[in-house]
Amino acid sequence: MPDNSQTTAASFAGGTVACVECDLLVTVPSLGMRQRSLCPRCGEVLSHGNVQRARLALPYSICAALLLPLSLLFPFLSFARSGVSNEINLIQSAWALYLDGSVVLSGIVFTFIIILPACVVAAVLWVALSLNLNRYLQGVHTAARFIYTVTAWSMVEVFIIAVLVSLIKIAHMASVEIGPSLWSYVAFALFTVAALAKLDKYVVWNRIEALQR
Ligand SMILES: [Zn+2]
Repeated sequence: MPDNSQTTAASFAGGTVACVECDLLVTVPSLGMRQRSLCPRCGEVLSHGNVQRARLALPYSICAALLLPLSLLFPFLSFARSGVSNEINLIQSAWALYLDGSVVLSGIVFTFIIILPACVVAAVLWVALSLNLNRYLQGVHTAARFIYTVTAWSMVEVFIIAVLVSLIKIAHMASVEIGPSLWSYVAFALFTVAALAKLDKYVVWNRIEALQR
């Protein structure tokens, strides 16, 4: 389950963090870019890096924001069998489910594969921009809360694994060609994961709190 955002904000007040695994209260020292602070009781990572590291989320999130629209524009996959070929893009894949009568599944696919990842990248961009400008931007609190609430539910990586497994299964039934959109989407997923990895919760909330003062 994702962390409750209020617990997250409260846990990081005053440089002390509550370990999410064992609830031990630990004072986190100031860290270098590559340093991590571990819980002395259970070894859970409490914080990773510093503000300089968190600021690196900006270039990664800009790349992700450019790649997602690209992955919607071109063919995602093309299939050919017995001289008949068919191409689909990402939106058509969700739309095909809708036409097939699977309205709910189509909505879930569309939300988790396109809408939610787009919102996450926008929120990451906003938080990273605030950290880089060293200014409290309107709505940055909400953006950070959104990131740490929905990240646990992001299905991008699961979707890519599902596509790869399906490709292996389909490959012996039809000739399958990977379209440019699939590569764009994989790159989008990698940049999003890289951007999120830079935004350590403890660092981000502490910095937002400091910028708000
Ligand atoms: Zn612990």
